[in-house]
Amino acid sequence: MNLYSLTRRFPTEKDALNHLVKTRWPKGVRCVACDHGKCWPIESTNKTGGLRRLFQCASCKFQFSATTGTLFHDSHLPLTKWFAAISLMSDAKKGISASQLGLQIGMTYKTAWYVAHRIREAMQEAKDIQLGDPDTTVEIDEAYIGGRLRLKGSKVAKASKTMVIGLAERNGRVHLESISNRQFESIKPVLEAKLAEDTKEVVTDGNCTYSRLIPKEKNARGNHGKELRERDWTTTQTVENAFSLFKRAIVGNYHKLSPWHLDRYMREFCWRYNRRCMQASIFDMALSSMVSRTPLPYKTLVAF
Ligand SMILES: [Zn+2]
Repeated sequence: MNLYSLTRRFPTEKDALNHLVKTRWPKGVRCVACDHGKCWPIESTNKTGGLRRLFQCASCKFQFSATTGTLFHDSHLPLTKWFAAISLMSDAKKGISASQLGLQIGMTYKTAWYVAHRIREAMQEAKDIQLGDPDTTVEIDEAYIGGRLRLKGSKVAKASKTMVIGLAERNGRVHLESISNRQFESIKPVLEAKLAEDTKEVVTDGNCTYSRLIPKEKNARGNHGKELRERDWTTTQTVENAFSLFKRAIVGNYHKLSPWHLDRYMREFCWRYNRRCMQASIFDMALSSMVSRTPLPYKTLVAF
């Protein structure tokens, strides 16, 4: 949903709050402490004298708001600003930096950075999602991502980069994840977790680790140089496109990423890429993920 449609749909804080309540509790408000189904709406004032809309459980008397225990937890930012940030991040195909987000919505860099990371936390596939099925071909490849852009190609630049493994269904979803090296021990857990066993065919490069992990009759192995010359059918073009789209997002928006946060950015990228054909509902998907996940304290984000 673009910003214009968003401000028409939720012109006031009250509209945004009503939508958040409906998204969180489609069948009626339930107590966040005891899950009781009867809760009364109450109003109180916050420290600065502003109005707070709360609920009180009829059973345990616990008072809570629509954002209690969610990724919005403890935020003093108006919901309309949160909604604008979610909308901008859902629509930005190549991602959006915290400074851009802050400029467009009117937030300090620090606030925008924390807001962006919490929305990023919502933009993640469920852990048990696997790629591939009996009708789908999955491509697998590795790439070096991030690090210093200057001194490109040098040993110093390469050493500051992170190795990433990518799985991509042809015409489907992708999964990118950092690994420490191309060895069997690093690749095995990723394939076990992310590649469905009944996948029709798996296209990889010549790395012999793959031949130990994928049955021979399913594994088509390519050679990058040869493919380019002969346009071989075993090409891993889909996964390479995903890598280059993500790399362009880093160069264009984030400039540099700390390896600590790289996996978060990749999960956000994959989540949005995997929903590229669901543009109309992507805002609501992000919002319902925001209210179904637990808080992400600032301390956790900077603890490295
Ligand atoms: Zn209760």
